[in-house]
Amino acid sequence: MKLFSIYLLGFFCISLQQANALEWPNIQPKKIAPHTYVIEHGPHDEELKVSHGFHNNPGFVITDSGVVVIDTGSSYEIGKMILRKIASVTSKPITHIFTTHFHGDHWLANQALVEAYPDIRTIAHPKLIELLKSGEDKFWLDLFSKRYGDDFAGTKALIPNTPAKTKHYKIGGMTFQVTLFNKAHTATDLMLNVVEDRVLFTGDIINNEHFSFMGHGNFKGAYEATQAALSMKPQHVVVGHGRSGKINLIKEFAFIYKTLRSEVTKYYELGLMDYEMKPKVVATFSKYQHWSGFNNQIGRYISQLNAEVENETF
Ligand SMILES: [Zn+2]
Repeated sequence: MKLFSIYLLGFFCISLQQANALEWPNIQPKKIAPHTYVIEHGPHDEELKVSHGFHNNPGFVITDSGVVVIDTGSSYEIGKMILRKIASVTSKPITHIFTTHFHGDHWLANQALVEAYPDIRTIAHPKLIELLKSGEDKFWLDLFSKRYGDDFAGTKALIPNTPAKTKHYKIGGMTFQVTLFNKAHTATDLMLNVVEDRVLFTGDIINNEHFSFMGHGNFKGAYEATQAALSMKPQHVVVGHGRSGKINLIKEFAFIYKTLRSEVTKYYELGLMDYEMKPKVVATFSKYQHWSGFNNQIGRYISQLNAEVENETF
């Protein structure tokens, strides 16, 4: 009996180890345009331990002179996965990383890529660099270390080294159109349009079936950013979280930001408090209730919009 228990225990431990090993993300890049690939996201839910902290959409573009990466991920281990996956498609070196905003799930994996290619130019909104240098990097290290535990081991904050400009970058025969925003999903947003491939990387300003935290952002600015995105007429849209897709993803978020604002403005003018608005706004957005983040974020969105509308009125 004792032997049998030991055998069972051993079997259980091996199964757990295997299950854990299997859970690590190992996602083959998907080619979405002639030069552009996406390592398409883990589960939507940012809190989920099962994802090992991987829930965004690292992208890369193969140019004549090397590989340009757009957003990495949340940890050193995920960065190593990205390196392996890029190497499975091309032997060219990684020359640039563009980061879409300062949230740690989009840049804390940079370390693994920079270790492999020390000359990489890591490009981001000037305010992102300023913010992380002023200590915000520690916030993300602490948060993810608590959230992901051992999965986050060995991760260091490598702050991007090159401030971006709103302009067209020419790299290895390809054109990368960068647009910076000061008030959208955050105060550090960068959209990147791969001109020849007509692929737009939107960061978290646009998601697919997912509502992001907007506490560092502004709804009016986010709506304006959707209009800038639409004006680029992309054929493919790589969002911050959720599957990549077509231009309708941008149109949907333009509708969401605009309607949230108009609803809250209407109820604000009627003298309602934010908790009184909530059931009414939830009813208007009933078709989005199954999206990840909806239940967590909708109350916060209303309070934040209430404050935004109040600030504009006075
Ligand atoms: Zn974000």
